[in-house]
Amino acid sequence: MSIADNIKNLNAETGRVGVKLVAVSKTKPVEDIEEAYAAGQRIFGENQVQELVEKHEKLPKDIQWHLIGHLQTNKVKYIAPFISLIESVDSLKLLQEINKQALKNARVINCLLQVYIADEDTKFGLGHDELIELLRSDEFRAMENVRIIGLMGIATNTENEKQIKDEFYELKTLFDGIKVSFFRKDDYFKEVSMGMSSDYKLAIEQGSTMVRLGSTIFGQRVIKHWKNN
Ligand SMILES: *Cc1c(COP(=O)(O)O)cnc(C)c1O
Repeated sequence: MSIADNIKNLNAETGRVGVKLVAVSKTKPVEDIEEAYAAGQRIFGENQVQELVEKHEKLPKDIQWHLIGHLQTNKVKYIAPFISLIESVDSLKLLQEINKQALKNARVINCLLQVYIADEDTKFGLGHDELIELLRSDEFRAMENVRIIGLMGIATNTENEKQIKDEFYELKTLFDGIKVSFFRKDDYFKEVSMGMSSDYKLAIEQGSTMVRLGSTIFGQRVIKHWKNN
């Protein structure tokens, strides 16, 4: 199946249940993104700032770029002018920097707070207590140039479907609680970004609103260096 076929089939599958498809194009060439774009795809996800900036420069300007990987504060300035959604906010310090750079660019930047749900210590994300502490802080309340539109999480990389399901259930339940406690009147707080190629069907069953699919669309990635993955 071609990239275009994959995009059409997956958009039909996710669109039927009102779930957004983020095409994760990290490590893939611009030509692959152009093929997906020609098939109608507009949301793309990247996990490295430099790669994202280069691709943004070369590709059509109506693409909505999502940053899905760990973001260092000193790199926020490179993506602040154009980024559509930062899915991987994992500290108050990072959010403060995003707010500052958004202000400089006279924009409001949409963000997701990344929550740690996996049973692995290699994944970034906020713990439940840290998440609540962040949302309660005076620093967060004072920010006018970031908008938290939901939560993001990555499940454990395992064959154990029960475990993955439980982790997604945990994230959705946390989302519901945070919605009631902090964003009751805010319609924009509505996204639960969960699900990758291997587990997106489980994620959708558990209430995902946004799935991030790479290899299912573009084929397996060649691992350039262990650090990149
Ligand atoms: C790479 C990546 C994906 C996509 O992974 P696939 O298994 O190729 O679908 C999704 N989310 C994040 C955060 C990623 O880094």
